[in-house]
Amino acid sequence: MGTTVIRGGLVITAADETNADILIEGGRVTALAAHDSDVARAWAESADRVLDASGRYVIPGGVDAHTHMEMPFGGTFAVDTFETGTRAAAWGGTTTIVDFAVQTVGESLRAGLDAWHAKADGNCAVDYAFHMILSDVNEDTLKEMDGLVDEGVTSFKLFMAYPGVFYSDDGKILRAMQRAAGNGGLVMMHAENGIAIDVLVEQALAAGRTDPRYHGEVRHALLEAEATHRAIQLARVAGAPLYVVHVSATEAVAELAQARDLGLPVFGETCPQYLFLSTDNLAEPDFEGAKYVCSTPLRPKEHQAHLWRALRTNDLQVVSTDHCPFCFKGQKEMGLGDFSKIPNGLPGVENRMDLLHQAVVDGRISRRRWIEIACATPARMFGLYPRKGTIAPGADADIVIYDPDATQVMSAETHHMNVDYSAYEGRTVTGRVQTVLSRGEVVIDDRTYTGRAGHGRFVARETCRYLG
Ligand SMILES: [Zn+2]
Repeated sequence: MGTTVIRGGLVITAADETNADILIEGGRVTALAAHDSDVARAWAESADRVLDASGRYVIPGGVDAHTHMEMPFGGTFAVDTFETGTRAAAWGGTTTIVDFAVQTVGESLRAGLDAWHAKADGNCAVDYAFHMILSDVNEDTLKEMDGLVDEGVTSFKLFMAYPGVFYSDDGKILRAMQRAAGNGGLVMMHAENGIAIDVLVEQALAAGRTDPRYHGEVRHALLEAEATHRAIQLARVAGAPLYVVHVSATEAVAELAQARDLGLPVFGETCPQYLFLSTDNLAEPDFEGAKYVCSTPLRPKEHQAHLWRALRTNDLQVVSTDHCPFCFKGQKEMGLGDFSKIPNGLPGVENRMDLLHQAVVDGRISRRRWIEIACATPARMFGLYPRKGTIAPGADADIVIYDPDATQVMSAETHHMNVDYSAYEGRTVTGRVQTVLSRGEVVIDDRTYTGRAGHGRFVARETCRYLG
């Protein structure tokens, strides 16, 4: 691999916007220099490859800290493999994913992690890392957590929802948090009161309320808020930081904001589906609402303004996708006549950077905040920074040349995710990925895929770098 220069673009990071040319050597950013300076001109003359970014943004590759490739759920599997899912990520300007390895109850963390390594190894188009889903907290698995932190799997997801599958009771959660407080791991929480939700599911089905929209009603916003509150108090007692995944309800945001006002190390992510979709989608006729079934559920439109505000005020720090695609035909349809059997999850890994850029166009967030919530903070939060999430000397050359003026229509006809529908079908957005580099290698070249399965490598992560 020789040297590459990206010239003429506006380089945007979480910290700055600069008219700079970028020198890339050995897969890393070596230096930035003022555009049209003698230094930059000399680089371009001697470079093996010059990429023209005039009139474009040059941004760090996206870091999607929440994906589920080939995830088993409700008797089926999420349809994107690591190969198709990371290729779609690249198309969407995301160059690192952090996926969730799953521990099955009764098995070791090791067995779960090995299984996920086997799925991903040699198949990824961009770099990847793992969180560990902890479904069975016991003496053995608590000890195993320390070893995982040492090998770069430094975050552990627990569930207050899904009794009988992933669910942990408060005692188990407290134990895992105590362990994380000691070994530097970050506990990630699916905060919904699953015990109460299951009662409401049973009652709804008994009353004949079986359509997808009831999925949203039984997973009440207050049960998200209650679980968020409880998770925060447990983390406080354990002396551990906490990261709440897929925050969707105003009331849950309020719990996070209150904790952060007390100075607690409590963080939250939301996802594009909660910012751009609502219960109106869940209520679409002819079972189409099933396309939008995920947990936490989509909320009434009024919640969106609170999520945007929290993203601006930093009460929410990260936007990830929770990419977990199931086809409408044959998979979502498993829940015809019983919403509780609809596999939970939405496709989105390809859409996140564009949807958030649309928020820049709409004036909801600044360009730098776009990069912060989609690249820099997820990298810091999960121990990938400054290798990932920024454009700076020494960083991996994971870089996107982004056309801020192009318009595109999102559609299953044109997307690259391995799923038969788009959650944003027909939506026009301004802005589009043009060229993508992963560790200096061009994987999308002016809207042509030039990457390959196996280019993406496993990245061992440090512990959380967002604290303090
Ligand atoms: Zn998830």
